[in-house]
Amino acid sequence: MKEPHEPLPCHKSAKKPCGRTGGLRDVVVVGAGIIGTLIAYRVIQNQPRAHVLLVDRAAAGSGATRHSLGFDLPYGRTALHRIMSAESANLYRSLRAQSRQFQVRSVPTFVVATPDLLERERSNFAAPLRALVAPAAWDRLFKSGICIGQGQEVWGPIAGSEAVPEHVVLELVQYFLRTGRIEVWEGVEIDAIEPHGTVVNLRTSDGRIIEASRVALASGPWIAKQPVCEFAQRHSIRVKKIIALQIDRKPELDNPAMFLLDHDAFLLPSVSRGRSLFSFTCATWDCDPHSRDLNVTNSERQHGLSILEAHFPSMVAHCSGACVFCDAYSPDWVPVIAADPAHPNIVLASAASGSGYRLGPAIAGRAARLLFGQSDDPVLDGVNLSAHHDALAT
Ligand SMILES: Cc1cc2nc3c(=O)[nH]c(=O)nc-3n(C[C@H](O)[C@H](O)[C@H](O)COP(=O)(O)OP(=O)(O)OC[C@H]3O[C@@H](n4cnc5c(N)ncnc54)[C@H](O)[C@@H]3O)c2cc1C
Repeated sequence: MKEPHEPLPCHKSAKKPCGRTGGLRDVVVVGAGIIGTLIAYRVIQNQPRAHVLLVDRAAAGSGATRHSLGFDLPYGRTALHRIMSAESANLYRSLRAQSRQFQVRSVPTFVVATPDLLERERSNFAAPLRALVAPAAWDRLFKSGICIGQGQEVWGPIAGSEAVPEHVVLELVQYFLRTGRIEVWEGVEIDAIEPHGTVVNLRTSDGRIIEASRVALASGPWIAKQPVCEFAQRHSIRVKKIIALQIDRKPELDNPAMFLLDHDAFLLPSVSRGRSLFSFTCATWDCDPHSRDLNVTNSERQHGLSILEAHFPSMVAHCSGACVFCDAYSPDWVPVIAADPAHPNIVLASAASGSGYRLGPAIAGRAARLLFGQSDDPVLDGVNLSAHHDALAT
């Protein structure tokens, strides 16, 4: 671990009382999605006396977070993804221990792919991944209607889970308001940020100026205009559509989730939503989260249905609607947590790349540390990653 940098000054002498209309905040977080809300939470965990304001142009949790399936697997394409996944599982576990409202349901998950792909990807799973042999597990699979293609194998089960990310945001916001620890402003858009030395002015769409010592930008897929567009361009962040088809068949409690590695697609029996959801990779880029065109096209639906037909043919007839929205992606799908080189008191936490629920706590932890000039080295170096996921699943 590097030594933490000197914390930025808190401007105590300049501080006016923190009222609804003014006063210097230690931290303003722009965007109350899963990332921004968790940043606010991690800031007060690390800096209990900090004055924090969480501000959103709409309702908290109403962006990409509202559409998220909340599926989590102990899996990551890169070592950093795997570390962030384990770190995040750890925080969700501790939130669950504090409040019954943070509900996470264990979903045993099987992985389907060709044997060579499974071998190549084996080390990307935190939990040991083995070829499926137990007859009882096969029974469960057939009950859920899976069809294994020629030359494919099923490995698992591994400990997946599902949650409703919007509920996590709303529960945290309730906690902030109940305890008075964080101000939450909804329906206030930040139009511009203007750094002046160690203070940043944030201009709101309703004509006010908020002063902050530090700013975290967590605006999810809203990257095309101020205040985030220049940061997004610098990190080559783009916005991609995400689609999950809704399958109107009530899942049984013991239905497993299926991860189709070849297609980067998964079937989630979502007991909390009363239906199954089939998420598949959609390659439609540069979407606008405001756009009326953010719907499922015929070719996108046909593409999803063709994968579903090959693996879960009995489900196709039950496909009704879809969950569709978009998310910010980095070129390598690794989240971007970066301070502005010219103004280190402004930190971008973006490009959750379709994994903002499952990696959110780790993204937020790094952003919260960076805001105070501290190292963003992984805090979980050397820990047993599978232990975290086993604990989450119990
Ligand atoms: C269909 C679908 C399924 C998904 N499934 C999963 C899954 O199973 N697991 C998983 O881990 N991830 C999943 N994701 C991805 C996940 O939803 C996102 O990665 C995550 O929600 C991103 O969170 P965020 O806080 O960055 O963005 P958001 O939730 O979009 O939050 C950003 C907030 O910033 C606000 N904002 C923007 N601009 C401004 C401004 N100028 N001023 C003030 N406020 C502003 C917005 O109103 C918004 O509330 C899914 C996404 C979709 C669309």
